[in-house]
Amino acid sequence: DQKQSSSNDVIFRSKLPDIYIPNHLPLHDYIFENISEFAAKPCLINGPTGEVYTYADVHDISRELAAGLQILGVNQHDVVMLLLPNSPEVVLTFLAASLIGAITTSANPFFTPAEISKQAKASAAKLIVTQSRYFDKIKNLQNDGVLIVCTESDIIPENCIRISELIMAGDLRVNSDISPDDVVALPFSSGTTGLPKGVMLTHKGLVTSVAQQVDGENPNLYFNRDDVILCVLPMFHIYALNSIMLCSLRVGATILIMPKFEITLLLEQIQRCKVTVAMVVPPIVLAIAKSPETEKYDLSSVRMVKSGAAPLGKELEDAISAKFPNAKLGQGYGMTEAGPVLAMSLGFAKEPFPVKSGACGTVVRNAEMKILDPDTGDSLPRNKSGEICIRGNQIMKGYLNDPVATASTIDQDGWLHTGDVGFIDDDDELFIVDRLKELIKYKGFQVAPAELESLLIGHPEINDVAVVAMKEEDAGEVPVAFVVRTKESNISEDEIKEFVSKQVVFYKRINKVFFTDSIPKAPSGKILRKDLRARLANGLLN
Ligand code: AMP
Repeated sequence: DQKQSSSNDVIFRSKLPDIYIPNHLPLHDYIFENISEFAAKPCLINGPTGEVYTYADVHDISRELAAGLQILGVNQHDVVMLLLPNSPEVVLTFLAASLIGAITTSANPFFTPAEISKQAKASAAKLIVTQSRYFDKIKNLQNDGVLIVCTESDIIPENCIRISELIMAGDLRVNSDISPDDVVALPFSSGTTGLPKGVMLTHKGLVTSVAQQVDGENPNLYFNRDDVILCVLPMFHIYALNSIMLCSLRVGATILIMPKFEITLLLEQIQRCKVTVAMVVPPIVLAIAKSPETEKYDLSSVRMVKSGAAPLGKELEDAISAKFPNAKLGQGYGMTEAGPVLAMSLGFAKEPFPVKSGACGTVVRNAEMKILDPDTGDSLPRNKSGEICIRGNQIMKGYLNDPVATASTIDQDGWLHTGDVGFIDDDDELFIVDRLKELIKYKGFQVAPAELESLLIGHPEINDVAVVAMKEEDAGEVPVAFVVRTKESNISEDEIKEFVSKQVVFYKRINKVFFTDSIPKAPSGKILRKDLRARLANGLLN
């Protein structure tokens, strides 16, 4: 149901042929379509405990949990929030919610109570699945009728429900009423501008996205049944949820679930579980590249290292290749709103296409990409940089309750405008060179300048403020603030940093404050962030 492009558009497609995608199926049916071929195989390994769930276990437990959710009154289109570190319960609850036509929104358990509450309220979450240690952050939501389910099997806070009791609870009433256009996942993202918004990903969208990555004639394109996939990236982010969890489940691979990144433990587990695919982000690549520990471990099982979520430089590519002797390295390019995968390396395909250094892959199959001149809006030919746009069934349905933001991101012809700047070369490889949008990426985590600006402007001694990205080696980028103080104010950099850090998760903390007399703005009132970034780059700071 894609619209035709105007004849003048230069459209780029995958080098591989399109595939059949059964995106009429609900996501859980698609995911388990081939399960009879690998029901007895290990599906999940819980890294810290070594506990294993087979595919049959995951299939059965998620159905039992779905029945439990129904008994609690969770209905089709209701929202279930996950506030969990990586753990088997993320997989089980996501599938259970899908089975009953409900929607999962995931939040970072390190979020402050205010950040969690904002997401819970914006998404109208009916129930939160969490661990007891996060209870204090969300107990107030109980006053609004939000149910809290804890994943521990022993002592849990009062008025909470134990997940093990839900799993025992009853028989699933199968919902045959799920439409491919129903929302199944609701990650939050600030997109190209403004505050974080709920991104509506449908059954059809996620089925399409997973199929684009792992289905079809090219069994090694991404990964397959014999693989053991490392899942240390946070599953509350759509990259791990889709490109690790859903893709692994679809092909019958084993997922090694690690709740946090700790280098020695990680290397130990790679050796012990014979991990074949390491899904990483640049800061993890950096840590592995720098670690002398790697020499003590046998990392020869790893055949693929795949990095995404932020740019990866040439030095890191080389460093990582040296550490994993048998691995091919590739990148993926994603954006939550795009479902999230837009492009991926084809170096793993049956007929491998060489991977170029710095490239973040080629556009996925069954999708169209174009590069727009930001000034004229014309589509550009190869080797010319412009805004990357994508079209296909995998992209979001829109932002929750925000038709204006939706319309400024997906145009009338169905193109999603990413706010990223890049070009496609003669071999169909995509290179990202810049970002037009406000978004700051700290170690791949989103920081929305508008969110920090709205906190800062609430301070009585601040007259005006703008937050932009500053380059930094370990994190990639960090948020810095340009602040106009009120006339009488002598508020210091430290006081401002402290004011923010009390209210936000660690990666949104202001790294540096620059005091200034005014914030450069366009006549429309829009902050001229480019000017501020230029000031940072040129060292023109007071
Ligand atoms: P998110 O929605 O949190 O996944 O963030 C999406 C944004 O991360 C993209 O729009 C890009 O700006 C950036 N990004 C993701 N993958 C890459 C990559 N491989 N190289 C450079 N930037 C990336």
